Amino acid sequence: MVQYFHSVKLDREACKGCTNCIKRCPTEAIRVREGKAVILEERCIDCGECIRICPNHAKSALTDPFTRLGDFAHRIALPAPSFYGQFRPETPPEAFLQALLKIGFDDVYEVPYAAEAVSQAIRRYMEEHRYRRPLISSACPAVVRLLQVRFPELLEQVIPVESPMEVAAYLAKDKASADLGLEKKKIGAFFISPCAAKVTAVKQPVGRAESNVDGAFAMAAVYGEVLKHLGRGSAKRPPRRIRAGGLGIGWGRAGGENVAIGKGSLLAVDGIHSVIAVLEEVEKGRLHDVDYLEAQACIGGCIGGPLAVENPFVARVRMKNLSEQSGQKGFQFSADELANWYDQGLLTMSKKVAARPVMQLDKDLQQAITMTGTLERTVGELPGLDCGSCGSPSCRTLAEDIVRGVAFETDCVFKLRDRVQVLAQEVLELARKVPPAMGQKGPNANQGQGGASGQSPPGAVDGSPSGGQGR
Ligand code: SF4
Ligand code: SF4
Repeated sequence: MVQYFHSVKLDREACKGCTNCIKRCPTEAIRVREGKAVILEERCIDCGECIRICPNHAKSALTDPFTRLGDFAHRIALPAPSFYGQFRPETPPEAFLQALLKIGFDDVYEVPYAAEAVSQAIRRYMEEHRYRRPLISSACPAVVRLLQVRFPELLEQVIPVESPMEVAAYLAKDKASADLGLEKKKIGAFFISPCAAKVTAVKQPVGRAESNVDGAFAMAAVYGEVLKHLGRGSAKRPPRRIRAGGLGIGWGRAGGENVAIGKGSLLAVDGIHSVIAVLEEVEKGRLHDVDYLEAQACIGGCIGGPLAVENPFVARVRMKNLSEQSGQKGFQFSADELANWYDQGLLTMSKKVAARPVMQLDKDLQQAITMTGTLERTVGELPGLDCGSCGSPSCRTLAEDIVRGVAFETDCVFKLRDRVQVLAQEVLELARKVPPAMGQKGPNANQGQGGASGQSPPGAVDGSPSGGQGR
């Protein structure tokens, strides 16, 4: 059985079983059992929706501790484009990138710089593959995992271009190794992540066997450290100029990837539930006129990631201003350099993205059809209130769990109440039937007197105060 790594974790002590998260999860990956949430590992896509919604802070993202820096001789920070939107306007990027050198990193390689190369690779792939439309961005790992579990038939449309994070890590280590004469294994590249999904992409990547990235720190944690060091003391190196241009920085907000691609009929959607709605349209074949679909799980794009600090609306304005200041100065790489990387496969995935069709009722088609019939009947017998009291997000999900054999109809409180009422009625009726050995007339007492059995017919008045109705 495949073991899935998940960055999103549950703190059972903090969980109160309130059921808020089960309704928000886009893949119906959470149940409440014995008063605590349980994440179904094979369904979770690490989108972080449950981290955002939990009022008890029982969900969190498992990131690397800063002590991991000690595992390497040379440590490189990889700030995500969204990191640029976290600081106030009076703190220029040069200042916060410089501060990274004061908190334990030896160098910084800007992920938005790599995003510019990735944008070019996307353009080239689109030009060379005109038969499949729309192509779907692979940049948000939560969306890629959503496609794996919920839209496996759309995986052919996922563009096999690597993420800016992976490309940045490769280029950063390559350069450091050449400059310093160090073996690559002694160089650690650490992503400053806005989300749990990227942490998972580092630990268990999709589209490649191993990540070039050695670890991921929560953006909020790095932000806190950087704030302490802004403008203080001397850095290990003289100030450096920001390398990334406006197009690369723009990748941190919704729509920015499309702006950087700049060609074709481009659609951008953000927020996992809106992404699902658009993917359903793609599934129905209604978006063939769209060349490229930028889809990001977080509202507002990565600036809305659960590990980011700044309000995403504020961050969006900062990113926009910063992009304009940094200029739409075009891409920072020469055409030859890009062609060389592309042809070497540095910018494209080395493995196919495989389906994880965990939503199927059964692998066997015939069995799945039979189970679907049972499912529909079961759904029809449930009250349809989607109240969540059973611990499943909806009546349909409970029905699915029943059909899969992992839940009971009586998990539904309304069904349970009905059953209890029926049982109570039966118990009352039985209670009235005191055995003859205890002194009451038995069924044979009336024999020979014209009675057949001596039992009262259902509903007959038998002398009890309740009149036989048990109420
Ligand atoms: S991270 Fe997303 S998919 Fe996973 S349990 Fe939470 S809400 Fe569901
Ligand atoms: S939109 Fe960005 S921050 Fe949100 S899950 Fe996707 S990659 Fe992570």
